[in-house]
Amino acid sequence: MKIDIVTIFPEIAEAPLRASIMGRAVESGAVDIQCYNLRDWATDKHHKVDDIPYGGGPGMVMKPEPFFAAVEDLREDNSIVLLMTPQGKPFRQATAERFSQESHLLILCGHYEGVDHRVVEALVDEEVSIGDYVLTNGTIAAAVVADAVIRLIPGVLGDERSTQEESFSGDGDQIEAPHYTRPAEFRGMDVPPVLLSGNHAAIEAWRKKSAKSRTRQNRPELFKKRHDSDEA
Ligand code: SAM
Repeated sequence: MKIDIVTIFPEIAEAPLRASIMGRAVESGAVDIQCYNLRDWATDKHHKVDDIPYGGGPGMVMKPEPFFAAVEDLREDNSIVLLMTPQGKPFRQATAERFSQESHLLILCGHYEGVDHRVVEALVDEEVSIGDYVLTNGTIAAAVVADAVIRLIPGVLGDERSTQEESFSGDGDQIEAPHYTRPAEFRGMDVPPVLLSGNHAAIEAWRKKSAKSRTRQNRPELFKKRHDSDEA
C-alpha cells in the first residue's frame, strides 16, 4: 500500500510515522509513505499557498492552484483522494478497515480557515474528520488516519488477532475488556482471579461481561445502539 500526505508541514507527519510499529512497517516495505510539501507546487517566488477569503471574514484560505497541481502529479489510476477537515464524515474503525483495502491513499491537509471549496468539488473523493473538534492543521489528523490504516495491513502487527478482537472491531459498537499483566497483586490491588484460573471459557465470559459494562459506562451511545439492535 502507498500513502502520500500533502501538507505545508511535512515534518509533523514524518515524526510519528518514523517510530515504533509505523517505522517498522515502512522499513519492511508493508507501506510506502511519503510526505510532500504543498509549497513545492506553488509557482510564485514566495511559494504562497493562501489568500484572503472572498466575502470577507477572519483568517486565510488555502489557494486551489497548488492542490490541483499536487494532485495532478501524485494521483494514480487507483488513488483515493482524502481531504482532512472537521467538516468531513467521521473517521471510524470501519473507515480505517475500508481504507486499508485500498492501494493508494492521497491525503490532503488544510491549514488556516481551510481549503478553497473547488478542491473539494473537483479533486476530493472523501472528506474525513477525526473528531468533533478543530485542530490548527490537518497533518496530525492525516498521521492519525495513516496510523489507524497501516496497523491493519496484514503482517504489520505481530498477532493478527490484535485487530480482530479489539475496541470498535466487528460492528464497531463495543469497547474492549480491561487488560492486566504481572504482578498479580500490586499495591493492594488484585488481578481478577478468573484471569489466573486457566479456564478459557470462564475468561472469555468475564471478558464479554466486562466489555459490555465498560461500554455502558464509557460509551453509552454505543451500548444503546448495540442493545437496541439486539432487541430488534
Ligand atoms: N474553518 C474550519 C472549520 O470551521 O471547519 C477549520 C479549519 S482548521 C483551523 C485548519 C485545518 O485543520 C483544516 O483545513 C483541516 O485540514 C484540519 N483539521 C482541523 N480539525 C480537523 C478534524 N477534526 N479532522 C480533520 N482535519 C481537521
